[in-house]
Amino acid sequence: MSGRIFTAPIKSSWPITAARLILCLLVWGALRPAALAAERNEPKRVLLLHSFGRDFRPWSEYARSIKAELERRSPWPLDIQEHTLLTARFNDPGPEAPFVNYLGSLYQGAPPDIVLSIGAPAARFVQGYRAKLFPKTPAVLSVVEQRLVNGLDLTDNDVVVAVRNDFMAAFGNILQVLPDTKTVAVVVGASPLEKFWIDEVKRELKPLAGRLDLIWYSDLPFEEILKSASTLPPHTVLFWGLMSVDAAGIVHEGDIALRSLHAVANAPIFSYQEPFFGGSSVGGPMHSVGETSSKTIDAAIRILHGEKPAHIKYEPIEFGPPKYDWREIQRWGISESNLPPGSEVLFREPRLWERYRWQIAMIAAVFLVQGGLISGLLHERRRRRLADVESRQRLAELAHLSRYAAAGEMTTSIAHELNQPLGSILTNAETAELMLKSASPNLDELRAILADIRRDDQRASEVIRRLRSMLKKTPFEVRDVQLNSTIREVVGFVADLAQGRGVVLSYAPAASELYVRGDPIHLQQVLLNLIINALDATAEVQTSKREISVALSRTGSYAEVTVRDTGPGIRADDLKTIFNPFFTTKPQGMGMGMAIVRTIVEAHHGTVSAENLPSGGAVFTVKLPILRSTFALQQGG
Ligand code: ADP
Repeated sequence: MSGRIFTAPIKSSWPITAARLILCLLVWGALRPAALAAERNEPKRVLLLHSFGRDFRPWSEYARSIKAELERRSPWPLDIQEHTLLTARFNDPGPEAPFVNYLGSLYQGAPPDIVLSIGAPAARFVQGYRAKLFPKTPAVLSVVEQRLVNGLDLTDNDVVVAVRNDFMAAFGNILQVLPDTKTVAVVVGASPLEKFWIDEVKRELKPLAGRLDLIWYSDLPFEEILKSASTLPPHTVLFWGLMSVDAAGIVHEGDIALRSLHAVANAPIFSYQEPFFGGSSVGGPMHSVGETSSKTIDAAIRILHGEKPAHIKYEPIEFGPPKYDWREIQRWGISESNLPPGSEVLFREPRLWERYRWQIAMIAAVFLVQGGLISGLLHERRRRRLADVESRQRLAELAHLSRYAAAGEMTTSIAHELNQPLGSILTNAETAELMLKSASPNLDELRAILADIRRDDQRASEVIRRLRSMLKKTPFEVRDVQLNSTIREVVGFVADLAQGRGVVLSYAPAASELYVRGDPIHLQQVLLNLIINALDATAEVQTSKREISVALSRTGSYAEVTVRDTGPGIRADDLKTIFNPFFTTKPQGMGMGMAIVRTIVEAHHGTVSAENLPSGGAVFTVKLPILRSTFALQQGG
């Protein structure tokens, strides 16, 4: 029975307990996000404590970066309150009590969630007064050189983000980049912090004693430093340590001091702080703002999430990989081969190509297209020239054939022309023979006969010369052509033929000589073809009046040759096609004469046209450009 009593409640209580547990989980699950949301919405109050001032380099750059990083990464709304520990500015710091009291009244009852100190003086202040001001508030002591960390006063509530100034590395960099360096002028102020560093640098650089002379500017007002820096001896460089407060007690905020030094110095400036890089210093290994601020914010966020500060530990941050300013390297004639391997060279001035990449690409493209066009055009021109030469050769050959055909037509008249002088020669020779047989030949008569023989012989030779010149196979040759005489020669050539056919052939030359540029044989060919066609045309009409009149005149800047006939004229429909190759109305015609005429005329930059005369018959007009020099001569005359 008791067993039952004992076991029953256990069995019956199990589902109840499970239900309770599930209920709890549900309630917790429902409440937890609300709690988290509430936690997230609660602003975090951050006290950012500066050592010298908000605009004091290098700390100002760290502070700016830390603030920006915190704002970027914080899941909570932030209330960042910044304060500056002014006492660090003075060479002889006064009492800090008023500032402590001010902060005390500010944070009484409502301490910040975290304190971030920037620089050693701020770290020391936090360590010194946190028990009084905000005893439970965790602190991240950032941008503190490891030697300045007050280890004794560190608590479990602190995280230190320390850096290590490696002066041997910084000076070693100077000697590597400018191996001829003999002296380093160290720019450093006169505040207690700066004085501390003078001793540290001296101690650390002992191994370089025989190698480098050090000049210390800590005792000089900044004005004097500028004067000295402008007249430094060769092989001297400047080392920019710190210039917060100079020997005259003048505070140097921002980067004005460094920029003024850069403007007057006759030697390169080196520094180991990234905030001084980019515009004034040559560069080398230096503290990286990014690395320090990112570690600081890592620590701050972990702490704000509830992690214990004592669990967050960092090794002191060393110099980052060396970086150099290309402009300073150029200015001081530093060879890039002297830079340590793995160095980064920044601020390189873009080369012409990089600066005007698009413009250059455009110009190159234009040149390419232009080049392509030019070579295309040259190629085309060459092709055209070859084609031109070829067509002229063909033309010359065709014209030659055509002249043969004309000569064939003129055989009778040529024979007649030759027969006349040859017949006279024979008669005269026979007469002379007879006279010589007499006892006393009349010598004067004989001389006259011989003169006649000579004249007739010359006439015959002239006929043969003209025939030969017409039948000569000539390539197209360009020269200055006197039109009057060239035309007269053709007219003379066909005169007998015309006479034989009962046609009156007349020629009216121009009043003054006209010159054209061209090939005389080809131009004669034009006229020959026109006259022979005119002869054919006049033969077609049954009339007693058969005439062909050739005339040369000037119209403007053109020489105009007209060939008129009294033939039947040309059918209106044929006027358009008369110059086409193979157009003929003659049973034995070839239809090439007019085509040859047009081709030759056009090759001489002229025109040819055909019309019907109102009185009947046709007129062909050839226009050729007058040679410019003749034209000018005649215009002037
Ligand atoms: P073909 O003389 O072998 O016929 P052409 O080319 O010299 O070839 O002449 C073509 C045609 O033009 C001739 O057949 C003729 O019909 C016409 N023609 C040429 N000149 C004249 C002219 N002066 N009068 C009338 N017709 C002409």
